Amino acid sequence: MKRRVLLTGGAGFIGSAVVRYIIKDTQDSVINVDKLTYAGNLDSVIDVSESERYQFEQVDICDRAELDKLFEIHRPTAVMHLAAESHVDRSIDGPSEFIQTNIIGTYNLLEAAKAYYLTLPPQEQSAFRFHHISTDEVYGDLEGTDTLFTEDTSYAPSSPYSASKASSDHLVRAWQRTYGLPTVITNCSNNYGPYHFPEKLIPHMILNALDGKALPVYGDGQQIRDWLYVEDHASALYQVVTQGVVGETYNIGGHNEKANLDVVHYICELLEEFVPSKPDGVTNYKDLITFVKDRPGHDVRYAIDASKIDNELGWTPSETFESGMRKTVLWYLENQAWWQRVLDGSYSLKRIGNK
Ligand code: NAD
Repeated sequence: MKRRVLLTGGAGFIGSAVVRYIIKDTQDSVINVDKLTYAGNLDSVIDVSESERYQFEQVDICDRAELDKLFEIHRPTAVMHLAAESHVDRSIDGPSEFIQTNIIGTYNLLEAAKAYYLTLPPQEQSAFRFHHISTDEVYGDLEGTDTLFTEDTSYAPSSPYSASKASSDHLVRAWQRTYGLPTVITNCSNNYGPYHFPEKLIPHMILNALDGKALPVYGDGQQIRDWLYVEDHASALYQVVTQGVVGETYNIGGHNEKANLDVVHYICELLEEFVPSKPDGVTNYKDLITFVKDRPGHDVRYAIDASKIDNELGWTPSETFESGMRKTVLWYLENQAWWQRVLDGSYSLKRIGNK
């Protein structure tokens, strides 16, 4: 069966990896629906944008009338919903956009999908899926324990970002249970890899180090995250949207618990290997590490039990933290044009007239 996937947020970090995966590794089509906020970058899908199986629609998921039109025109067989405001620090400084896009936007998309789903003949209804992509941050903080998040862990979000994502997860479950919309949900750990926006920890550290700038680490740097290479996440998402059981939730993780400070140390070690000639005044990249005031409400530990997706759908990550990080650092070294256009703002000029 060839699918038509209406994918939201396909100009973002993970969404663009899923778009590239679908076009390169499957026979399916993708309709990339993205508002192109500061985080949206069409350069990230340039490799596949000429494919006849790829289309782009610049639409805000808060605009219900536009969403209805998209369903009518494209008649998708599946929705993969990744569009979101995703940066925790921004959610602390200004939660409003997070409430709008992550909660109201998800509500709009559910309503548009439901209205469309109800018009489908029974056979197409049974094949239809609404896949909501979420985060392990909805489960809150595991500080002081050695337990893992399972699909049954209670929700206890800490930040405006994770609270808005938790809200959206609840809405999706309610639309499945109350209206029978065939949904699946995934909750994933921290992603890293190519095309990651430079404000996020790993690219921020790589680019600052290359420029001889300080490497700011929150608090004591002992916050633990489970890290997953983004292309592994893309393959997991495709497995869930095609094989997942309606109404189920799947946790996705990389089996890579690392303290933030250890992540930064590893980046410095890789840069010592790949770029031994350092900027003026820098003897060791690690000397650039500076500890800064911790983020308010900062969760200390997240850790994922990803055994369900392994046992039930046969998915496991293919990259270790070491192999994925090597690929990532090399990608930033070899793709300066991509991140230079983000840093100088020219990537966003594509927003105009690019439907
Ligand atoms: P991102 O910030 O890189 O990309 C988000 C994309 O959504 C951007 O292209 C942006 O333009 C688009 N967007 C934002 N608001 C929109 C709106 N109102 N209408 C249409 N498009 C809009 O995010 P990401 O890191 O790729 O994350 C994608 C999804 O995965 C999010 O739902 C996030 O919560 C989830 N997630 C992320 C991680 C992670 O480590 N990055 C981990 C687990 C889950």
